[in-house]
Amino acid sequence: MGSTTLDISIKKIDKSRIEEIDALNINFGKHYSDHMLIAYYENGHWNPPEIMPFHNLYLSPATTFFHYGQAIFEGVKAYKDANGNPLIFRPYDNWKRMNRSALRMAMPEIPEDIFIDGMRQLVNLDKNWVPTADDTSLYIRPFMLAIDEFIGVRPAEKFMFIIITSPAGPYYNHPVSIYVQDKYVRAFPGGIGFTKAAGNYGMSMYPTQEIKKMGYDQILWTDGFEHKYVQEIGTMNVFFVIGDKVVTPNITDMILEGVTRDSVITLLKDKGITVEERLISIDELEAAHKSGELKEAFGTGTAASIAPIYALTYHDDKMLLPPVENWEIANWLKKELADVRYGRKEDIHGWTLKV
Ligand SMILES: *Cc1c(COP(=O)(O)O)cnc(C)c1O
Repeated sequence: MGSTTLDISIKKIDKSRIEEIDALNINFGKHYSDHMLIAYYENGHWNPPEIMPFHNLYLSPATTFFHYGQAIFEGVKAYKDANGNPLIFRPYDNWKRMNRSALRMAMPEIPEDIFIDGMRQLVNLDKNWVPTADDTSLYIRPFMLAIDEFIGVRPAEKFMFIIITSPAGPYYNHPVSIYVQDKYVRAFPGGIGFTKAAGNYGMSMYPTQEIKKMGYDQILWTDGFEHKYVQEIGTMNVFFVIGDKVVTPNITDMILEGVTRDSVITLLKDKGITVEERLISIDELEAAHKSGELKEAFGTGTAASIAPIYALTYHDDKMLLPPVENWEIANWLKKELADVRYGRKEDIHGWTLKV
């Protein structure tokens, strides 16, 4: 990993807007920090990025991504350690994943220095915006858009890469109730399920709205052929504790390779717990629940960290799990992960990047 310092032109805001924020009452995704980073791609190469005050974009209505959705994004977080230094959690993994998304969406790969060093300098400039209270962080949103002014259908030639950041409060971590979806599909072989493409989210809105009306929080997506094998919950990876093993779907082109997923697997293996990455059927989960072997279930993602699932509904079968407060694995993982992210524990895997 290179540690070159990119020469980025920085235009600072005249007066910080930080007073807009009620530090004790941060609403996720409502406030954006003082600055943003923008880089343009044209004529086959990336121009040097610029950091400037957060501002609205001025784009032609014919801009490609408005029509055809050639757009991808990432989600990263920075956490303040006890000395007030922001630590960015595993940004190299997000960088590599963004480039996998870019390739599949016929978009240019982002150079490491623009993504990593650009993010580092942006977070450093806006470090006052990284909250310090328990369970808070700065959410970092890199994204890329196709910006040709052309409504003919073809891969674009001009792109914009942007990073914005937003203070994130403690995640409202009530356990969630899950509905097993066997009508709509999130991902299928040869599709874009493994990418963070905007369209994956757009298509999930309607099915999610439907199950929310029915009183559930999130969807457990199943495969598109038999609706038999589980994939992900909502926009998170999913884990089950069956007996003394932890199981999670194996990575295919239908599963988003979560950074939190990988961190959880690593922490579990470090502790000597068996983790199986494999196909998991609804039948297996129902049988494990019946026999009392299904002990815990949780989603993982940057936004929610670890999201416990207290109930799993498949047709008429409402499977209730044991009380979340008694869970050993998910509760331990949540604390362990937080200790690494906030720099309270030695970072043996080299996961955190100091700004
Ligand atoms: C972003 C995302 C995840 C979680 O990935 P993390 O890197 O852990 O944040 C899981 N599933 C989907 C569909 C996602 O878009």
